[in-house]
Amino acid sequence: MDFARIDQQISALESCVENTIEVSPGEQLFVGVDLGTAYIVIVVLNAQKEPVACAMEFAQAIKDGLVVDYVGACHIVRKLVQQLEGRLGRTLTHAAIAMPPGTGHKDSNTHRHVVEGAGLEVTAILDEPTAANAVLDVQNGVIVDIGGGTTGLSVLEDGEVTYLADEATGGTHVSLVLAGSYGISFVEAEDLKKDQERQAEILPVVRPVIQKMASIVNKHIEGRDISGIYLVGGTCCLKDFEKVMEKETGKPVYKPANPFLVTPLGIALNCIAPQADA
Ligand code: ATP
Repeated sequence: MDFARIDQQISALESCVENTIEVSPGEQLFVGVDLGTAYIVIVVLNAQKEPVACAMEFAQAIKDGLVVDYVGACHIVRKLVQQLEGRLGRTLTHAAIAMPPGTGHKDSNTHRHVVEGAGLEVTAILDEPTAANAVLDVQNGVIVDIGGGTTGLSVLEDGEVTYLADEATGGTHVSLVLAGSYGISFVEAEDLKKDQERQAEILPVVRPVIQKMASIVNKHIEGRDISGIYLVGGTCCLKDFEKVMEKETGKPVYKPANPFLVTPLGIALNCIAPQADA
Protein backbone atom coordinates (compact mmCIF):
# COMPACT_ATOMS: atom_id res chain seq x y z
CA MET A 1 0.00 0.00 0.00
CA ASP A 2 1.32 3.42 -0.97
CA PHE A 3 0.90 5.35 2.29
CA ALA A 4 2.84 8.35 0.99
CA ARG A 5 0.38 8.71 -1.91
CA ILE A 6 -2.63 8.37 0.41
CA ASP A 7 -1.30 10.92 2.90
CA GLN A 8 -0.42 13.34 0.12
CA GLN A 9 -3.96 13.06 -1.36
CA ILE A 10 -5.61 13.49 2.04
CA SER A 11 -3.38 16.43 2.99
CA ALA A 12 -4.23 18.12 -0.34
CA LEU A 13 -7.93 17.71 0.48
CA GLU A 14 -7.41 18.99 4.03
CA SER A 15 -5.88 22.21 2.70
CA CYS A 16 -8.96 22.66 0.45
CA VAL A 17 -11.18 23.16 3.51
CA GLU A 18 -9.67 26.65 3.87
CA ASN A 19 -8.28 27.19 0.36
CA THR A 20 -9.89 26.92 -3.05
CA ILE A 21 -7.96 25.76 -6.10
CA GLU A 22 -8.90 27.56 -9.32
CA VAL A 23 -10.74 25.57 -11.99
CA SER A 24 -11.29 26.45 -15.66
CA PRO A 25 -14.77 27.45 -16.85
CA GLY A 26 -15.64 24.29 -18.79
CA GLU A 27 -13.70 21.83 -16.65
CA GLN A 28 -15.48 18.64 -15.56
CA LEU A 29 -15.92 18.60 -11.77
CA PHE A 30 -16.59 15.61 -9.54
CA VAL A 31 -18.49 15.98 -6.29
CA GLY A 32 -18.91 13.68 -3.30
CA VAL A 33 -21.52 14.28 -0.60
CA ASP A 34 -21.05 12.42 2.70
CA LEU A 35 -24.16 12.58 4.88
CA GLY A 36 -22.83 11.44 8.26
CA THR A 37 -24.19 11.13 11.79
CA ALA A 38 -21.96 13.95 13.00
CA TYR A 39 -20.88 15.84 9.88
CA ILE A 40 -22.09 16.60 6.39
CA VAL A 41 -19.02 16.89 4.15
CA ILE A 42 -18.86 17.90 0.47
CA VAL A 43 -15.70 17.38 -1.60
CA VAL A 44 -15.10 18.80 -5.09
CA LEU A 45 -12.42 17.36 -7.41
CA ASN A 46 -11.18 18.76 -10.71
CA ALA A 47 -10.98 16.95 -14.07
CA GLN A 48 -7.78 15.19 -12.88
CA LYS A 49 -9.68 14.08 -9.75
CA GLU A 50 -7.54 16.31 -7.53
CA PRO A 51 -9.20 18.14 -4.61
CA VAL A 52 -10.14 21.76 -5.34
CA ALA A 53 -12.60 22.62 -2.54
CA CYS A 54 -14.17 21.07 0.54
CA ALA A 55 -16.88 22.28 2.92
CA MET A 56 -18.43 20.70 5.99
CA GLU A 57 -20.82 21.34 8.82
CA PHE A 58 -21.58 19.63 12.12
CA ALA A 59 -25.08 18.22 11.74
CA GLN A 60 -27.37 15.90 13.60
CA ALA A 61 -29.79 15.33 10.75
CA ILE A 62 -28.69 11.78 9.99
CA LYS A 63 -28.44 8.88 12.42
CA ASP A 64 -26.63 5.69 11.42
CA GLY A 65 -27.49 6.15 7.77
CA LEU A 66 -31.09 7.27 8.26
CA VAL A 67 -32.18 10.82 7.58
CA VAL A 68 -33.93 11.83 10.82
CA ASP A 69 -34.25 15.55 10.02
CA TYR A 70 -35.00 15.83 6.30
CA VAL A 71 -35.54 19.59 6.26
CA GLY A 72 -32.39 20.21 8.33
CA ALA A 73 -30.29 17.95 6.08
CA CYS A 74 -31.60 19.68 2.92
CA HIS A 75 -30.89 23.09 4.41
CA ILE A 76 -27.27 22.25 5.26
CA VAL A 77 -26.50 20.54 1.94
CA ARG A 78 -27.99 23.47 0.01
CA LYS A 79 -25.96 25.94 2.09
CA LEU A 80 -22.70 24.02 1.60
CA VAL A 81 -23.31 23.66 -2.15
CA GLN A 82 -23.93 27.41 -2.44
CA GLN A 83 -20.75 28.13 -0.47
CA LEU A 84 -18.69 25.87 -2.73
CA GLU A 85 -20.25 27.31 -5.89
CA GLY A 86 -19.38 30.81 -4.66
CA ARG A 87 -15.79 29.78 -3.89
CA LEU A 88 -15.27 28.03 -7.23
CA GLY A 89 -17.31 30.42 -9.39
CA ARG A 90 -18.96 27.34 -10.90
CA THR A 91 -22.34 25.64 -10.66
CA LEU A 92 -22.11 22.12 -9.29
CA THR A 93 -24.31 19.80 -11.29
CA HIS A 94 -23.82 16.20 -10.16
CA ALA A 95 -22.53 14.18 -7.23
CA ALA A 96 -21.90 10.74 -5.80
CA ILE A 97 -23.27 9.71 -2.42
CA ALA A 98 -22.53 6.76 -0.12
CA MET A 99 -24.57 4.74 2.32
CA PRO A 100 -23.54 2.64 5.31
CA PRO A 101 -23.42 -1.02 4.27
CA GLY A 102 -26.74 -2.81 4.50
CA THR A 103 -28.84 0.34 4.10
CA GLY A 104 -32.08 -0.29 2.24
CA HIS A 105 -33.19 1.14 -1.10
CA LYS A 106 -35.75 3.48 0.53
CA ASP A 107 -33.10 5.05 2.75
CA SER A 108 -30.71 5.61 -0.12
CA ASN A 109 -33.59 7.29 -1.97
CA THR A 110 -34.00 9.71 0.94
CA HIS A 111 -30.28 10.56 0.77
CA ARG A 112 -30.64 11.07 -2.96
CA HIS A 113 -33.58 13.46 -2.48
CA VAL A 114 -31.61 15.51 0.05
CA VAL A 115 -28.77 15.98 -2.44
CA GLU A 116 -31.06 16.49 -5.45
CA GLY A 117 -32.92 19.12 -3.43
CA ALA A 118 -29.69 21.12 -3.52
CA GLY A 119 -29.69 20.95 -7.34
CA LEU A 120 -27.19 18.10 -7.80
CA GLU A 121 -28.05 15.09 -9.92
CA VAL A 122 -26.93 11.92 -8.10
CA THR A 123 -24.93 9.91 -10.64
CA ALA A 124 -23.50 7.25 -8.30
CA ILE A 125 -24.58 5.61 -5.05
CA LEU A 126 -21.98 3.44 -3.36
CA ASP A 127 -21.42 1.90 0.04
CA GLU A 128 -19.05 3.57 2.50
CA PRO A 129 -16.38 0.81 2.63
CA THR A 130 -16.12 0.88 -1.17
CA ALA A 131 -15.73 4.66 -0.99
CA ALA A 132 -12.98 4.41 1.65
CA ASN A 133 -11.22 1.71 -0.33
CA ALA A 134 -11.12 3.88 -3.45
CA VAL A 135 -8.54 5.87 -1.48
CA LEU A 136 -6.84 3.11 0.53
CA ASP A 137 -6.83 0.30 -2.06
CA VAL A 138 -6.73 -2.44 0.60
CA GLN A 139 -6.50 -5.89 -0.96
CA ASN A 140 -6.45 -7.95 2.23
CA GLY A 141 -7.26 -6.66 5.70
CA VAL A 142 -10.04 -4.88 7.55
CA ILE A 143 -11.16 -1.27 7.17
CA VAL A 144 -12.43 -0.03 10.52
CA ASP A 145 -14.62 3.07 10.17
CA ILE A 146 -15.34 4.88 13.43
CA GLY A 147 -17.54 7.90 12.89
CA GLY A 148 -20.04 9.58 15.17
CA GLY A 149 -22.36 6.73 16.05
CA THR A 150 -20.82 3.37 15.26
CA THR A 151 -17.76 1.21 14.77
CA GLY A 152 -18.03 -0.38 11.32
CA LEU A 153 -15.84 -3.13 9.90
CA SER A 154 -15.33 -4.27 6.32
CA VAL A 155 -13.13 -7.28 5.76
CA LEU A 156 -11.45 -7.36 2.35
CA GLU A 157 -10.04 -10.40 0.60
CA ASP A 158 -8.36 -9.89 -2.78
CA GLY A 159 -9.89 -6.40 -2.86
CA GLU A 160 -13.48 -7.65 -2.38
CA VAL A 161 -15.60 -6.98 0.72
CA THR A 162 -16.33 -10.40 2.22
CA TYR A 163 -17.70 -9.52 5.66
CA LEU A 164 -19.38 -6.46 7.17
CA ALA A 165 -20.31 -5.52 10.72
CA ASP A 166 -21.48 -2.34 12.42
CA GLU A 167 -22.03 -1.83 16.15
CA ALA A 168 -22.94 1.11 18.35
CA THR A 169 -19.98 3.00 19.91
CA GLY A 170 -18.47 5.95 18.09
CA GLY A 171 -17.32 9.52 18.63
CA THR A 172 -20.60 10.48 20.32
CA HIS A 173 -19.77 8.03 23.12
CA VAL A 174 -16.28 9.52 23.45
CA SER A 175 -17.84 12.98 23.85
CA LEU A 176 -20.41 11.73 26.37
CA VAL A 177 -17.64 10.24 28.53
CA LEU A 178 -15.68 13.50 28.36
CA ALA A 179 -18.78 15.55 29.21
CA GLY A 180 -19.44 13.39 32.26
CA SER A 181 -15.85 13.33 33.40
CA TYR A 182 -15.16 17.08 33.02
CA GLY A 183 -18.68 18.22 34.01
CA ILE A 184 -19.16 20.04 30.69
CA SER A 185 -21.87 20.05 28.00
CA PHE A 186 -21.81 17.67 25.01
CA VAL A 187 -20.95 20.56 22.66
CA GLU A 188 -18.06 21.64 24.91
CA ALA A 189 -16.88 18.02 25.04
CA GLU A 190 -16.88 17.86 21.22
CA ASP A 191 -14.61 20.94 21.15
CA LEU A 192 -12.34 19.57 23.88
CA LYS A 193 -12.02 16.26 22.04
CA LYS A 194 -10.89 17.96 18.83
CA ASP A 195 -8.42 20.31 20.54
CA GLN A 196 -5.01 18.95 19.40
CA GLU A 197 -3.32 20.56 22.41
CA ARG A 198 -5.41 18.58 24.86
CA GLN A 199 -5.63 15.18 23.18
CA ALA A 200 -2.76 13.71 25.26
CA GLU A 201 -4.54 14.84 28.44
CA ILE A 202 -7.89 13.29 27.50
CA LEU A 203 -6.51 9.94 26.30
CA PRO A 204 -6.59 8.24 29.74
CA VAL A 205 -10.22 9.36 30.14
CA VAL A 206 -11.36 8.07 26.75
CA ARG A 207 -9.11 4.99 26.61
CA PRO A 208 -11.90 2.65 27.86
CA VAL A 209 -14.12 3.78 24.97
CA ILE A 210 -11.34 3.06 22.48
CA GLN A 211 -10.82 -0.31 24.17
CA LYS A 212 -14.52 -1.02 23.70
CA MET A 213 -14.15 -0.18 19.98
CA ALA A 214 -11.14 -2.52 19.82
CA SER A 215 -13.16 -5.27 21.51
CA ILE A 216 -15.80 -4.90 18.76
CA VAL A 217 -13.03 -5.28 16.17
CA ASN A 218 -11.59 -8.32 17.98
CA LYS A 219 -15.00 -9.98 18.16
CA HIS A 220 -15.55 -9.70 14.42
CA ILE A 221 -12.05 -10.59 13.21
CA GLU A 222 -11.70 -13.61 15.47
CA GLY A 223 -10.88 -16.70 13.41
CA ARG A 224 -10.16 -14.63 10.28
CA ASP A 225 -6.79 -14.18 8.65
CA ILE A 226 -6.39 -10.42 9.10
CA SER A 227 -2.96 -8.98 8.24
CA GLY A 228 -3.72 -5.34 8.98
CA ILE A 229 -6.30 -2.88 10.33
CA TYR A 230 -6.91 0.32 8.33
CA LEU A 231 -8.53 3.17 10.27
CA VAL A 232 -10.97 5.68 8.77
CA GLY A 233 -13.62 7.97 10.30
CA GLY A 234 -13.31 11.10 12.43
CA THR A 235 -12.96 9.37 15.79
CA CYS A 236 -9.70 7.74 14.68
CA CYS A 237 -8.19 11.26 14.49
CA LEU A 238 -7.71 11.12 18.27
CA LYS A 239 -4.01 11.23 19.07
CA ASP A 240 -2.58 7.76 19.75
CA PHE A 241 -5.90 6.09 18.90
CA GLU A 242 -3.95 3.72 16.64
CA LYS A 243 -1.59 2.76 19.48
CA VAL A 244 -4.47 1.68 21.74
CA MET A 245 -6.07 -0.23 18.84
CA GLU A 246 -2.76 -1.94 18.05
CA LYS A 247 -2.20 -2.95 21.68
CA GLU A 248 -5.72 -4.32 22.10
CA THR A 249 -5.86 -6.25 18.81
CA GLY A 250 -2.23 -7.31 18.43
CA LYS A 251 -2.48 -6.48 14.70
CA PRO A 252 -0.59 -3.84 12.68
CA VAL A 253 -2.76 -0.70 12.53
CA TYR A 254 -2.48 1.90 9.75
CA LYS A 255 -3.88 5.41 10.20
CA PRO A 256 -3.84 7.85 7.26
CA ALA A 257 -2.97 11.55 7.66
CA ASN A 258 -6.58 12.52 8.37
CA PRO A 259 -8.91 9.52 8.74
CA PHE A 260 -11.96 11.85 8.83
CA LEU A 261 -11.54 12.77 5.15
CA VAL A 262 -10.91 9.32 3.64
CA THR A 263 -14.55 8.34 2.97
CA PRO A 264 -15.64 11.80 1.68
CA LEU A 265 -12.67 11.77 -0.74
CA GLY A 266 -13.49 8.23 -1.85
CA ILE A 267 -17.11 9.22 -2.54
CA ALA A 268 -15.98 12.09 -4.78
CA LEU A 269 -13.49 9.80 -6.58
CA ASN A 270 -16.45 7.57 -7.49
CA CYS A 271 -18.53 10.42 -8.91
CA ILE A 272 -19.30 9.91 -12.59
CA ALA A 273 -20.39 12.40 -15.21
CA PRO A 274 -24.12 12.55 -16.05
CA GLN A 275 -25.12 10.37 -19.05
CA ALA A 276 -25.30 13.30 -21.46
CA ASP A 277 -21.73 14.48 -20.60
CA ALA A 278 -20.12 11.07 -20.31
P1 ATP B 1 -21.18 7.87 10.98
O1 ATP B 1 -20.07 7.27 10.15
O2 ATP B 1 -21.31 7.24 12.34
O3 ATP B 1 -22.49 8.01 10.26
P2 ATP B 1 -20.02 10.43 10.45
O4 ATP B 1 -19.95 10.04 8.98
O5 ATP B 1 -20.55 11.78 10.76
O6 ATP B 1 -20.79 9.35 11.30
P3 ATP B 1 -17.24 10.97 10.67
O7 ATP B 1 -17.52 12.23 9.95
O8 ATP B 1 -16.28 10.01 10.08
O9 ATP B 1 -18.57 10.25 11.04
O10 ATP B 1 -16.70 11.29 12.14
C1 ATP B 1 -17.43 12.10 13.03
C2 ATP B 1 -16.94 11.86 14.44
O11 ATP B 1 -15.53 12.10 14.51
C3 ATP B 1 -17.58 12.81 15.45
O12 ATP B 1 -17.88 12.12 16.64
C4 ATP B 1 -16.50 13.87 15.66
O13 ATP B 1 -16.60 14.45 16.94
C5 ATP B 1 -15.25 13.03 15.54
N1 ATP B 1 -14.07 13.81 15.16
C6 ATP B 1 -13.94 14.61 14.06
N2 ATP B 1 -12.73 15.18 14.05
C7 ATP B 1 -12.09 14.74 15.17
C8 ATP B 1 -10.79 14.98 15.73
N3 ATP B 1 -9.94 15.79 15.14
N4 ATP B 1 -10.48 14.36 16.88
C9 ATP B 1 -11.34 13.53 17.48
N5 ATP B 1 -12.59 13.25 17.02
C10 ATP B 1 -12.95 13.86 15.86
